[in-house]
Amino acid sequence: MGQTKHEGPTKLPRLPDPKLWVSPVPFGLGKIKPKHIRDTAKVVWENRDNLPYAYRILTQGVCDGCALGVGGLRDQTLTGPHLCTTRLNVLRLNTMPAIDEEILHSDIDQLRQKSSTELRQLGRIPYPLSRKPGEKRFTRISWDDALDRIADKIRSIDPKQLAFYLTSRGITNEVYYTAAKTARFLGTNNIDNASRICHSPSKTALKRSLGIGASSCNYRDWIGTDVLVFWGSVAANNQPVSTKYMYAAKRKGTKIIVINPYREPSMDGYWVPSIPDSALFGTKIADDFYQVNIGGDIALMNGVMKHWFEMEIEEPGSAIDWEFVQQHTHGVEDLKDHVLNQDWETLEASSGLSRARMEELARLLAHSKSGVFVWSMGLTQHRFGTDNVSQIANLAMLRGFIGRKHCGVMPIRGHSGVQGSGEMGADPFVLPGGDFEPKEIERLEQLWNFDIPRWQGDTVGDSLENALLPEEHQRKLRVFYTSGGNFLETMPDPDFVRQCLEQMELRVHQDIILNTSTLVDAKEEVIVLPAMTRYEQPGGGTSTSTERMVYFSPEIEGPRIEEARSEWEIYTDLAARVKPEAKEQITFADAQEIREEIAKANPNYDGIQHLKKKGDVFQWGGAWLCEGGICPTDDGRGNLIPIELPELRKPEGHFYVSTRRGKQFNSMIYGETDPTNAADRYSVLIHPEDARSIGIRDGEAIVLYNRYGRFQGVAQFADTRRGNLQVYWPEGNVLIPKGVYEEYAAIPEYNTAVVVEKAETYHAQKDTRYVEKRVEELETEMT
Ligand code: SF4
Repeated sequence: MGQTKHEGPTKLPRLPDPKLWVSPVPFGLGKIKPKHIRDTAKVVWENRDNLPYAYRILTQGVCDGCALGVGGLRDQTLTGPHLCTTRLNVLRLNTMPAIDEEILHSDIDQLRQKSSTELRQLGRIPYPLSRKPGEKRFTRISWDDALDRIADKIRSIDPKQLAFYLTSRGITNEVYYTAAKTARFLGTNNIDNASRICHSPSKTALKRSLGIGASSCNYRDWIGTDVLVFWGSVAANNQPVSTKYMYAAKRKGTKIIVINPYREPSMDGYWVPSIPDSALFGTKIADDFYQVNIGGDIALMNGVMKHWFEMEIEEPGSAIDWEFVQQHTHGVEDLKDHVLNQDWETLEASSGLSRARMEELARLLAHSKSGVFVWSMGLTQHRFGTDNVSQIANLAMLRGFIGRKHCGVMPIRGHSGVQGSGEMGADPFVLPGGDFEPKEIERLEQLWNFDIPRWQGDTVGDSLENALLPEEHQRKLRVFYTSGGNFLETMPDPDFVRQCLEQMELRVHQDIILNTSTLVDAKEEVIVLPAMTRYEQPGGGTSTSTERMVYFSPEIEGPRIEEARSEWEIYTDLAARVKPEAKEQITFADAQEIREEIAKANPNYDGIQHLKKKGDVFQWGGAWLCEGGICPTDDGRGNLIPIELPELRKPEGHFYVSTRRGKQFNSMIYGETDPTNAADRYSVLIHPEDARSIGIRDGEAIVLYNRYGRFQGVAQFADTRRGNLQVYWPEGNVLIPKGVYEEYAAIPEYNTAVVVEKAETYHAQKDTRYVEKRVEELETEMT
């Protein structure tokens, strides 16, 4: 933990710098780019029935979009306004009225014909609902009925057969904390959160490498660092205001490097709407792109380190920060032997980059005195995601880019509150303020005054699959309680996920809107509970950003959904009904009392109890974790870990495929067209040479298939690493195998290998013989 405090926001330069302009043609006319003015006008129109409330949310509340984090319209990084179209797009979730009763109670098959986007646009869930097998419609029930039924069912099962899940849609720390406490109070450790499918490997890797579970630095550190590397992250699309920080960094001379299979147009150049010269002429963002193979990052990083150690042989001190390494790390000799023993041909084949390019990146980093590494799901959503991230930590430690100004490692997050989910204990491996281990369990038992089950809880992927266990199995999942989340559209293999959801006896969906998963049958009952948004929560709530800023979001005056309740209150009410004899152990008088307890449960959060009004914020851990190189590990040192290359077998004629985001906020889609490249949801980004080699033209209908599924799309020529394709998420999830999880953090694998064929050939020949032959051939693909 650091002593130095965050410096607060800095100013942008007043005068423009034409050297950074994308084009002298104003407003990027003729270029494919986001249309900020048109999108803003659309949002104003959508919210026209509630404009004053929408304005108050924007100016007083903490953004419920990404985890860049902003309270009102001001952030901690730059002076000036902070607003983006992602925040504007999700605004309607907060201002829309309840679903029309006639539609809500219409035939379930009619509702099932709607997409999640259409279901979202119906409006808010107005009151508790129930649907049992054979019932064609939702029935309105009272809160008492709903919670008593859930409580009765929970009492009737083994606690191992109960699991909780919380997404991150606007959920506050107070809700994560009460859910985490409720689960343990009810005797289960099966509680998980949305980071399982995004950044769980980041936390696991940072913990083992540096002893920390969060970003070590701030966005302020981007501005003026020598080199800022985005690794598998399209921050311009997913955290749009980050482009303003990138602009500020460029103005200070920072070099920006992007490592990604696809040359992302929005990381190449961006028109930052709140900066006049950028809004007019655009800003060149990336100084260089390294177009790596999907899954080739470990090889690239080993290549960089190999070259560093080779430079050291030639000229000691030319690449490695030996002072940092010797004073603050373990394992440098093993790491050195490991990377020096790797041969360049293997590294080139795995990474997709030439030795010369790897050496170029190595020299750039070696000549930089400071550096920040930012990454996202391009690194984490792999079955070796933890290893990918530990490689980042290896690079940072070897260069001494840890624990000081303009240096650090940053897993940038896409959901506003998700940083706090694990820190509050809504995670099977974690309790508030510590890992799930004996001394932490005992500490929490003293505070909570009840016993915490000692068995290891399951991650959400395992919990879903546990619904298919035999009846007599002790861990067969019978009750699944989910706050938000749409598993049909986030997990691999949607058909399999549907089977799991159907096999649960009772499913509870606590949410603000319906989605496709809410409409799936359950064996005994589906109960839907209407939740409040963070802006409606009495007593306000807090949310933790990527850079560990804990922001207070006040309760904001405005229209309410009459029966919606604070999510923390629902959890504790339910818990009290399951165990009325112990209800004083789980009941909170108000949100402030929860914050008081969080401050005790998680010592990093001491300070949260003082957040009481709009604009209140504090950063836990200070400006830099591992300040001065001292890591919160047992002996204060970081661990340099040799990482083996993953086995990536791609049979002849196959392509790697990974998933990308378009105009969407996580799984919520706000536009059919990706504003950065004009692709639509079924476009398949493919290199023109690859396409020509198999006789495919731009815009032609194609089929991607493997033994897990089939995806029909349209070829779109794009500047992507040869042999690598991109499809949109979640549509492309039909190609992803089920049940393949990362070893340490249990994130599902979201990449695979496919055969590509013209749709016309595929359909003409998909008789049994043809498909059977192909399936056999596919047995050897990337697993
Ligand atoms: S960049 Fe993220 S935090 Fe900032 S306004 Fe947009 S969605 Fe909200």
